[in-house]
Amino acid sequence: MDYKKILPKYRKDRTRLIEILKEIQSAEGFISDKAIQAVAENLGLSRAEVEGVISFYHFLSDRPLGKYVVHLNNSITAEMAGREKVAQALEQETGCRFGETSADGLVTLLETSCIGMNDQEPAALINGVVFTCLAPEKVKRLVSAMKAGQAVQDMVEETGDGANSHELVRAMVRNNIRQTGPVVFGDYSAGQALTRALSLTPEAVIDEVKKANLLGRGGAGFPTGLKWEFCRKEKGEQHFVICNADEGEPGTFKDRVILTERPQMVFEGMAIAGYAVGAKLGFLYLRHEYTYLRRYLELVLQKMREQGWLGQNIAGRGFDFDIEIKMGAGAYICGEESALIESAEGKRGEPRDRPPFPVQKGYLNLPSTVNNVETLATATQILVRGSGWFRSMGTPVSAGTKVLSVSGDCDRPGIYEVEYGLTIKELLDLAGAKDTLAVQVGGPSGNCISEAGFGRRICFSDLATGGSIIIFNKSRDLLAVVRNFLEFFIEESCGWCLPCRAGNVLLKKKFEKIASGRGTAQDLKEIEAWGKIIKSMSRCGLGQTSPNPVLTTLANFRELYKSLVNKEADFIPEFDLNRAVAEACEITGRKFQEENDHA
Ligand code: SF4
Repeated sequence: MDYKKILPKYRKDRTRLIEILKEIQSAEGFISDKAIQAVAENLGLSRAEVEGVISFYHFLSDRPLGKYVVHLNNSITAEMAGREKVAQALEQETGCRFGETSADGLVTLLETSCIGMNDQEPAALINGVVFTCLAPEKVKRLVSAMKAGQAVQDMVEETGDGANSHELVRAMVRNNIRQTGPVVFGDYSAGQALTRALSLTPEAVIDEVKKANLLGRGGAGFPTGLKWEFCRKEKGEQHFVICNADEGEPGTFKDRVILTERPQMVFEGMAIAGYAVGAKLGFLYLRHEYTYLRRYLELVLQKMREQGWLGQNIAGRGFDFDIEIKMGAGAYICGEESALIESAEGKRGEPRDRPPFPVQKGYLNLPSTVNNVETLATATQILVRGSGWFRSMGTPVSAGTKVLSVSGDCDRPGIYEVEYGLTIKELLDLAGAKDTLAVQVGGPSGNCISEAGFGRRICFSDLATGGSIIIFNKSRDLLAVVRNFLEFFIEESCGWCLPCRAGNVLLKKKFEKIASGRGTAQDLKEIEAWGKIIKSMSRCGLGQTSPNPVLTTLANFRELYKSLVNKEADFIPEFDLNRAVAEACEITGRKFQEENDHA
């Protein structure tokens, strides 16, 4: 189908720009100049606006791509699992390098950030289909299949456990659920929570969630009940519930597993949130990398409609609520709630200035609550079992359980639902980690902990995390880890503000100077000072946390950095402007005047 046939379907709805572009790319292989012009005219946008959206997202392209497009993940866990050999095999078998398309137009090789498969690396997407645990031999088979013209889905040799084997999913992804807990992976009976919620007033639902002290599970930890209350109190023609399923923090994959095995619990949580805030419509904003789950999730939604848990007059209580799925197109920053809203409106996912907050002016400038997948699943269980039950778990500040995604150097990578308050040491034992050098808690934006911190607890008052835990044993090069994380932030910065756009590049240059043994003690001081500037002057969470890989390793592994500092060059680099100008005057025969008057 060409773009001329695609456009009318969307009825000039500007909020669906990303969907339109994705469909055109899927049909035509890329978004051509003519298609850009037609889309712009159809939606009443300028060409620059359409091009701006295409250039923003990793998975949109305005240049022709091969028949098979391989996006090889470059996360640190992929590197640890042998990504380099896989990349070499891909280049060798296809005859093209990364960033290029093979001469016969068959294959394009591209890199991409974390695709949420850290427990089964190296992983790649081929035309959107997930391939895990790659190795050079497997690459040979895949490229042969491409050369034989095989459909990508047919290249999946074996499907994973649970719903990964559902006929609408058929993914080789594995859930790797290592430890279930009583909340997200506890007993669940569909519809019970919603029935109870609808027997209460919306205010009483909010009150129950507030009493449970449910803090946002995406990482920020904002109280969910309070967010719903703020949203409910805002006046607006419409209110919206948005489920943030854009987990892009490297090392995080727990929402993928929750959506695979507990989708109805999440959707029920969205309906409860809708009732609480006064919304009739909710969106699941699903990251592009999880497109393989979409048809299955649509089926779950359809079944919920048929069973009366979504749609008109839910459970006969006069409450109307439905859910749509909106797809991302590949941008880490869209995990930030205001950037997510921009993206859901079909725009570049650039964060908004706050205030106003999304609960005041969110989707289409109307009051919107944005909640994480795990938060909404947890709210469902709270409505069934009560706030007292929930607060009996965890710590006084951090009630309940947390679903963790554990990857890296351990025998049992995967998903663990644990009570808040678990120490890092206890988690390492659960996961079968040995000889551990460092643990990255909360992904690259979090904290890199040394052995001295293994007694610290996972909870909001100590080590907060959205769920990402990456383990490094003593054979690992910590500098390679920091480098990977810094490159990730440079790649994912939306570029809007200077401290983040340029500061991270400068920070990485300074880091490389130290890593190469050319740095001085002064460079270490400057890294700390620059890191603080970037953190304090950046507009959104990405920039505000982007120096953490270097700052937290500098704090917790200072000896490593000190050992790299060039002792021979123990000087404070400086530039004496007056002396330099005096020298220049002497050479050119000009008169030198001190105190900056060099005219
Ligand atoms: Fe964009 Fe970075 Fe600024 Fe955030 S901090 S708005 S990601 S440039």
